[in-house]
Amino acid sequence: MSTAPSDVLPVMDGFWNDDLAAADPEIAAAVTSELARQRDKIELIASENIASRAVLEATGSVFTNKYAEGYPGKRYYGGCDYADQVETLAIERAKQLFGCNFANVQPNSGSQMNQAVFLALLEPGDTFMGLDLNSGGHLTHGSPVNMSGKWFNPVSYGVTEGDELIDMDAVAATAREHKPKLIICGGTAYSRTWDFGAFREIADEVGAYLLCDMSHISGLVAGGAHPSPFPHCDIVTSTTHKSLRGPRSGIILWNDEKLTKPLNMAVFPGLQGGPLMHVVAGKAVAFREALQPEFKTYAHRIVENARALAASLEENGLRIVSGGTDNHSMLVDLTAKDVTGKAAEAGLDRAWLTCNKNGIPFDTRSPFVTSGIRLGTPAGTTRGFGPVEFRTVGKLIAEVVDGLSKNGPEGDAQVEESVRARVSELCSAFPVYPGM
Ligand SMILES: *Cc1c(COP(=O)(O)O)cnc(C)c1O
Repeated sequence: MSTAPSDVLPVMDGFWNDDLAAADPEIAAAVTSELARQRDKIELIASENIASRAVLEATGSVFTNKYAEGYPGKRYYGGCDYADQVETLAIERAKQLFGCNFANVQPNSGSQMNQAVFLALLEPGDTFMGLDLNSGGHLTHGSPVNMSGKWFNPVSYGVTEGDELIDMDAVAATAREHKPKLIICGGTAYSRTWDFGAFREIADEVGAYLLCDMSHISGLVAGGAHPSPFPHCDIVTSTTHKSLRGPRSGIILWNDEKLTKPLNMAVFPGLQGGPLMHVVAGKAVAFREALQPEFKTYAHRIVENARALAASLEENGLRIVSGGTDNHSMLVDLTAKDVTGKAAEAGLDRAWLTCNKNGIPFDTRSPFVTSGIRLGTPAGTTRGFGPVEFRTVGKLIAEVVDGLSKNGPEGDAQVEESVRARVSELCSAFPVYPGM
């Protein structure tokens, strides 16, 4: 038998050594352009943030190669020693960060974490309650085009037309009438503090599980800038890439051991196969960051900045839904300016201010047009903006919107150019990934 080494495998040229720019110039160019976009424009999308270089590195690490179906110590594949280390650290850090007994860090996204809760607790056709999409709820909380609305029976609660706050009496009445098996609190476009204790009382009265989907506010909860959903909620889910500033992903948290098996089984093997271990590593890094004292300062700054932005917008003639914000986000009602959300999103983008059009409560326009925009401060706060900068941003937004109000969707080109110049000044003063 010959012991001579095999012929050299004809791998692609540069397989081991080429960086992305050498291996794939087209994708590399898009990545470079995306970095420039994040540097040069002000990110006001409330669900986005700027993750640390360490989070990016862990998420782009060799763990992308690893299959680790199962859970630490109980895997279906060999070679999981380091995957176990990473996942165990992620779990322990998540528990410490949010003060709970159990965590599943495997959900690939926010949608999947919520699907796992449905799979664990409900049967198809079961009734559950969630915040109406028109009042700021999420697709996965019962939208008719989402699985949650197709396979289950959603009953929604909303905000009142007067103060645009969640009407807890109506929540209680709806729960008594429909006897949901699950009540979801949390949303994507609700700028006020959630009263988790009040939801707990209602859930207890009707015998429902209480889920908080804290995706938007989990960074604030971690930093003590919004009350914690624990101990009131049975289950808490969260994306990890919004105010929490980690990689794009989801987590599930709970306290009662009886929920451990159903929830873990729902994530794997119920919904997912192998976890994205590189993303689990990124989550572990983000949780460690969020446990540092600086993150508390960050979380409180986000809220302070949101208040400054909302105040500045109001002083410059724009209406904030519900009259202000308690968290990182706000909805701006453009009705009085006769400007659509769609036109505002496009006009602001031309001025290098990135945001999204968003329906306002009782909006009469379609979701593709809308009467409002949603703004958030987590990304700007990460780059170093404080209340002074966010007051300026509010003024710049109002200038662009006034241009649209006067000239229609094409806006005022001169104003937009002048805003762009001031955006550039702000961005240069607060650089993103300066070493990259
Ligand atoms: C963003 C969000 C999700 C979904 O997250 P994806 O990762 O985009 O699937 C779920 N629930 C709420 C409340 C969210 O804000």
